[in-house]
Amino acid sequence: MNQPVPGHIYIITGPSGVGKGTLCKMLLAVEPNLTLSISATSRAMRAGETDGVSYHFKTRDAFEAMIAHDQAQPDAERHHLLEWAEYNGNYYGTPRSVVQEALAAGSSVLLEIETQGALQVKRKFPSAHLIFVAPPSLEALAYRLRTRGTEAEAEIASRLEISRHEMTLQDQFDYVLVNERLETCLDAIREIMAGTASGRTLR
Ligand code: 5GP
Repeated sequence: MNQPVPGHIYIITGPSGVGKGTLCKMLLAVEPNLTLSISATSRAMRAGETDGVSYHFKTRDAFEAMIAHDQAQPDAERHHLLEWAEYNGNYYGTPRSVVQEALAAGSSVLLEIETQGALQVKRKFPSAHLIFVAPPSLEALAYRLRTRGTEAEAEIASRLEISRHEMTLQDQFDYVLVNERLETCLDAIREIMAGTASGRTLR
């Protein structure tokens, strides 16, 4: 398999529970020149998560202060966040400096973010590769969310509602991969990274 082309932004997006996080871990294990962007969030830390590793955990006030800073700052080079979105009542955002430093050093950067944020990055970096990972069906997604056991039923229900909407946005992404089997999906992403994928892949 060829190495990923350096200096690129790869965005793994798609509904919650589809396997984005697992795919990113698998990618980082096999692609040495890839830097994972660790997001900031105002959501509460889950059991098993570590601050600075899973996310940079912030209070809602601290997150809103970053948003206010960026909105008042005309120079995008001084923004805290490259993109941000409110997802199911919590803020999530990509720190700008990490992405820009990695790109400047010739690394490629991997972002695991929801759809609104992915589209914001594409507006700023039209060459970013947007990869939408879809579940085989919404029923399969509901099953995965329930069996991973990280959210309560009310949270699962609202995530599924958001997923229904996110599924309608698929056409706006460069690639759509159906995650039937993780290894097949991983191989497809590596082909995209190596520049050998033949256009928009639907599997
Ligand atoms: P979770 O609460 O399950 O960790 O994440 C909820 C959603 O937020 C997921 O779809 C995840 O990919 C997305 N997300 C994580 N980090 C970011 C980020 O920095 N920006 C945006 N826009 N979404 C993010």
